Amino acid sequence: MRQKILIATNNLNKIREIQNILSDFDLITPQELGIDLEIEENGNTFEENAEIKAESFCKASGMLSLADDSGLEVECLGGEPGVHSHRYCPKPNATDADRRAFLLENLKGKPRPWKARFYCAAALCDPKSSEIQLVHGICTGEIIPEERGNGGFGYDPIFWIPERRMTLAEMSENEKNDISHRGAAMRKIREILKKKDV
Ligand code: IMP
Repeated sequence: MRQKILIATNNLNKIREIQNILSDFDLITPQELGIDLEIEENGNTFEENAEIKAESFCKASGMLSLADDSGLEVECLGGEPGVHSHRYCPKPNATDADRRAFLLENLKGKPRPWKARFYCAAALCDPKSSEIQLVHGICTGEIIPEERGNGGFGYDPIFWIPERRMTLAEMSENEKNDISHRGAAMRKIREILKKKDV
């Protein structure tokens, strides 16, 4: 019987993107297993946070668990928001739109182009050995001051890909996965899973 892989996140946007890339595998979500874990992402790097998530879900489920930790790094802000991308905006219960507005507020007056990159670390934790394998992916582009497109999530509507003359939010999910940080990391995970014969 094929081994199931738990996607160690409750972020539905990430789950959808990961399912699309790893469509050859038997994936399951924490919600489907009735697992509800609130994990404190207190690592200093994307890799540390991905490891914390993969290991916690692996321990809770006893299943091969895959976690993603990702975020936006803006050059002229010294790499911020970085690992704090989700908690960046101080407003209580901030939405993705609040976070985008807060970022643009902080970029006001800074010379363009606002070069930026998305970084994704992915960790795979194996319950048999407790071994964790780590990979990463990067997507480079720039932040633009006006929102474009309705696809994707998070900072996608203001993340411009110069070569495509589009934001990530203007792309289809397949187009985004082809060039995104998460797409690159998950294709490496796909190779690891194939070798594990999952
Ligand atoms: P975490 O990995 O759940 O800690 O949060 C990552 C945060 O970075 C998200 O809430 C988004 O704000 C941002 N982010 C990560 N990946 C993407 C992406 O593919 N598009 C847009 N924003 C992203």
